[in-house]
Amino acid sequence: MIIVMKGGCTPGQVHEVSNRLELLGYVVNPIFGVEKTVIGAVGGSEHEKIDAIDQLRGYEGVEDVILITKPYKFVAKEYIGKKSVIDVGGVKVGGDEVVMMAGPCTVESEEQLFTTAERVAKAGARILRGGAYKPSTSPYSFQGMGLEGLKLLKEAGKRYGLKVITEVMHVRKVEEVSEYADILQIGTRNMQNYDLLREVGQCRTPVMLKRGMTAKLEEWLLAAEYIASGGNDRIMLCERGIRTFEPYTRNTLDLSAIAALQSLTHLPVVVDPSQGTGRRELVGPMSKAAVAVGADGLLIEVHPNPDQAIKDGAQSITIESFEKLMPELEAIANAVGRSLRTPVLT
Ligand code: PEP
Ligand code: MN
Repeated sequence: MIIVMKGGCTPGQVHEVSNRLELLGYVVNPIFGVEKTVIGAVGGSEHEKIDAIDQLRGYEGVEDVILITKPYKFVAKEYIGKKSVIDVGGVKVGGDEVVMMAGPCTVESEEQLFTTAERVAKAGARILRGGAYKPSTSPYSFQGMGLEGLKLLKEAGKRYGLKVITEVMHVRKVEEVSEYADILQIGTRNMQNYDLLREVGQCRTPVMLKRGMTAKLEEWLLAAEYIASGGNDRIMLCERGIRTFEPYTRNTLDLSAIAALQSLTHLPVVVDPSQGTGRRELVGPMSKAAVAVGADGLLIEVHPNPDQAIKDGAQSITIESFEKLMPELEAIANAVGRSLRTPVLT
């Protein structure tokens, strides 16, 4: 870490900061310039001493404290040095294959879910998505089918050979949702629900952590660190768009984050172009862009009749559009040295 002292600071102030750093276990090296003094401090584990380091910002004569190591450890790229592959009951996320996750925004009925599951499975999807517990901006909006929805998801997954991903919103529901889901989705609104993150950190079900809609990459990775430090290392991240000043799209899908994360973390990165754009006609183009830029998987909202969907119909694509999109995505995956499961021909 580097402590930049204010111009005109006193030797006593430099001494006080140096003393504190030594007590924290650092080897201290002050450099006295003509106008400024900086103190180099090496040897400490910054992420473990973050509160003590923050105190230094308030010390007399201190202008800035610059950390040179990352504030997260278990999710950092360097921690294992290569990409993590998460095995979801035989489906590997983070390997060569770009894993397709598809299904309705929310489970509405047996017929809606099973029709979708059957067709997306045939088209090459590996994982069935669908909300049973839905986070809604309005309390008057549909809140999901709950346990009934979970049961349908599990049954549909079993019947069509798909793994299941669904959202868990509350600490008290983690056990219940884990019984039915192969991947626990933490939604954007809960990315900084630290109690929930700790709770899923305690279980062994893989977790997909969506990016908070206003979260910086570092905040997102620190949220993942909560899960990893609890002992659950089967984490994937999901870029689902962030809030910007542009209202035309529901969110702004941050494609650069997908590329940037490759050098920051070993965790696989899934992309959700449905919440990411809010517009069905943009789902195909952004899916292609996401695969091109290195996404390890896609999470796409597919509905048999999007115009009648209870939730997120405007951003849901039809089953036919999904079937048409798959070979196009496969071609892009192949062009960037990845595979994408080819449709099962019947
Ligand atoms: C969803 O996947 O339907 C959803 C609600 O996602 P997000 O948390 O990204 O809004
Ligand atoms: Mn949705």
